[in-house]
Amino acid sequence: MVCLSQKMKKQYNLNGNLIFESPDGNGWVEWVEADDGTLHCLVGDIKIDKEIDVTILSTFKNRSDETRFKTVVEVKEYVKSLPQWNKTKYYSKITELGSSGLLDCKTGDVIDAGFEYDLHPHLVIKFNNINRKEPCAMCGSRSQTKIPLGLFLFDYSSSAVFRPVCNGCGEKYAPILVRLLTDFYQNEDDSTRLPIQE
Ligand SMILES: [Zn+2]
Repeated sequence: MVCLSQKMKKQYNLNGNLIFESPDGNGWVEWVEADDGTLHCLVGDIKIDKEIDVTILSTFKNRSDETRFKTVVEVKEYVKSLPQWNKTKYYSKITELGSSGLLDCKTGDVIDAGFEYDLHPHLVIKFNNINRKEPCAMCGSRSQTKIPLGLFLFDYSSSAVFRPVCNGCGEKYAPILVRLLTDFYQNEDDSTRLPIQE
């Protein structure tokens, strides 16, 4: 059973939504009943944006069969028994089904029905002064960040840090930034190869 595995040790109730913290990252779980009555759970990402004090419950990544609960009512009872999520004042659900607007974590009141949030990964070009051996923050592939400038992901969800991103993922999510970097290194190479004028 993936949904409530040992890894998801810390669990919270956010207005009936289950939020979990695990060493592999944080997320949220939603249970849905299939036509034949069996339960499935969908596991999605969460992002904590401290700047605007919002927890974003976003896109579902995994789906698995539920064995621990038999009905949605049971699930609701269980989630209700968990400590309340209080790491931000507000939250918003932004999935394939649309946006919930901005809600108050404590009361569930809608604060701003038209709330929108850019879920695209926050990629930036940043000075890089060390030889990083970290894998790409997005796909996990081995890649070497160039010195002195590299592409990074600003990771809101865990501890607000910059993590290196490979060229392939850069091409996919921020092609303009990759082009800028390519131009930069191209020019740098050209300038070092310039013939010395006599
Ligand atoms: Zn990558």
